[in-house]
Amino acid sequence: MNNLASSSRIKIISTIYEGLKELDISRIEFEGPEIALYVKKPSLAQDKIDLVKKIAKELKKRLVIKADPSVRKSKEETMEIIKNEVPQEAQISDIKFDDDLGEVMIKARKPGLVIGKGGSIQQRIFANTFWRAVIIREPPIKSRILDNIMEHLYSETEYRSDILHSFGERIHRELLFKDRYVRITALGGFLEVGRSTVLVETPESKVLLDVGLNPSVNFGERLYPKLDIEQVDLEEIDAVVITHAHMDHSGMIPFLFKYGYEGPVYTTSPTRDIMALMQLDGLDIAEKEGRPAPYSAKEVRKELLHTITLDYEEVTDIAPDIRLTFYNAGHILGSAMAHLHIGDGTHNIVYSGDFKYARTRLLDRANSDFPKVDTLIMETTYGVQEQTDREESEKELMDVINKTLNGGGRVLIPVLAVGRGQEIMLIINYMMKNKLIQQAPIYVTGLVDEVTAIHNAYPEMLSREVKEEILYKDENPFTSEFFKRIDGFKEDIANGEPSIIIATSGMLNGGPAVEFFKAMAPNPKNALIFVSYQAQGTLGRKVRDGAPEVNIVNRDGRIENIKVNMEKFIIDGFSGHSDRRQLLSFLRNINPRPRNVILNHGEADSIYKFGSLIRSDRSKLGYRPNVYTPSILDSLRVA
Ligand SMILES: [Zn+2]
Repeated sequence: MNNLASSSRIKIISTIYEGLKELDISRIEFEGPEIALYVKKPSLAQDKIDLVKKIAKELKKRLVIKADPSVRKSKEETMEIIKNEVPQEAQISDIKFDDDLGEVMIKARKPGLVIGKGGSIQQRIFANTFWRAVIIREPPIKSRILDNIMEHLYSETEYRSDILHSFGERIHRELLFKDRYVRITALGGFLEVGRSTVLVETPESKVLLDVGLNPSVNFGERLYPKLDIEQVDLEEIDAVVITHAHMDHSGMIPFLFKYGYEGPVYTTSPTRDIMALMQLDGLDIAEKEGRPAPYSAKEVRKELLHTITLDYEEVTDIAPDIRLTFYNAGHILGSAMAHLHIGDGTHNIVYSGDFKYARTRLLDRANSDFPKVDTLIMETTYGVQEQTDREESEKELMDVINKTLNGGGRVLIPVLAVGRGQEIMLIINYMMKNKLIQQAPIYVTGLVDEVTAIHNAYPEMLSREVKEEILYKDENPFTSEFFKRIDGFKEDIANGEPSIIIATSGMLNGGPAVEFFKAMAPNPKNALIFVSYQAQGTLGRKVRDGAPEVNIVNRDGRIENIKVNMEKFIIDGFSGHSDRRQLLSFLRNINPRPRNVILNHGEADSIYKFGSLIRSDRSKLGYRPNVYTPSILDSLRVA
């Protein structure tokens, strides 16, 4: 503890010392949002578990008990004990030690068997080795990115431990101001889709919600959120909170680190992994296309070290006066709605991020119950449109596939690597397994496959059905025998036997999907199915709108003319966004009801129309909130 130790900290520390004297506490450390007690008698910890819980509840803090380094068992002994305690069927694949935080990472095929019933084995590992076990799932499809991230984190344990201490000191600093206010400033993604970024300020602290880039432009001012204003002094930002891994919400985080941000990034584990993958992939593409990138891989690595992962519904201090809790958003794997509890409940904000208020095959419906809500910041991507029902869309997909395969053609489905790719895989696997479509190879290209591997590492975050299939029935739909992984475009597949090809990118603006399209488009037996949004100006949009031929610029600068003879279909019922009806139903069901609703993440037309719909007709929601539709750089005082 430094000499700035504040009175509230002194209270925390003395309460803990007092209450848990018998454990022989050697030091207390603020490690990010957690308070770690290093004790010399860890064997007594198990008996004190209820008391620890009681003190944690009283202080409203997360307490963890760790062993003082002097009493920890040697690594050799610890490995031996772990191997004896954990049943063979758990299939441990890796064990790594973090000397600085006193943790041992155990990676296993069946992590549940390492944890044991009610955490029993995990507790025994601590009781017998005095190392705190962190248990991670080894996915059945090998994931290069997951291996690299863990390798990176465990090679920088000293740095991690140092920054966690500095985050902890900052979170637990003394409150300085008597004045209370909460101000929200729109920095990106207001009256537009892309570069989502929101600043939340109190007199004590500043937090950024999402830091996205604009995927529809490659350079220039509109690529970035408005970070170059006085209110955004990177040294004053306490925390960056990320709702999900799509680049329009997380693509600019490394840019903050490039320009001096040294603080924490809070998100879920899958979001950390997928966003790093997408950011690195973005750098790859920029290099291949000879474009300058806004940051380098160095800053992505730094972002990973600064990321603190949270589970859904885990309450966490992120600033002296702000508590963060994530809730399922149903949009893509790991996607979250962020709940901010400010002051002693002075004000409560829910920032929805992108959310789906309906069940999909991949994910459960977004959460709509919160402890308190005063202000809701809500996405409005589909404030006007209504989507086709999922069941109807599935039937349509089935019919198109059947017709094409029976006619000897091939089906091309361009997808986003994250979200729609996996949803489509689940649907097609289900149909083929249940013989609703004829059997044929399903080819899946590189990036989709890498992202799918990450899905396999977090089955507990997937929909109830898929989770059960993976965990309890051993029928992992993602590793189904029908799927064939391919690295990229293959001529013999494009012109081969009837098959289904799932490839990136979703809007045909690059990636193997374009190569397949070029080879398959002239053949009228083939089918092209659009399952996601096609932005203005993309090749996907031109084809979708019915262009009979298109010009595509090759890598060597040559223009190639492609005749589009293949059949085209648009199936819109698989969206990861809520449509107009689902947005309304969310607003009707949200509990408790918000006083303020701020609309973002939609084109101006969508936001204005949806805004007047909920403003004008009280019967639509059953209550009448204040509705705001701010522009970029608008600020709004909400408390
Ligand atoms: Zn998204």
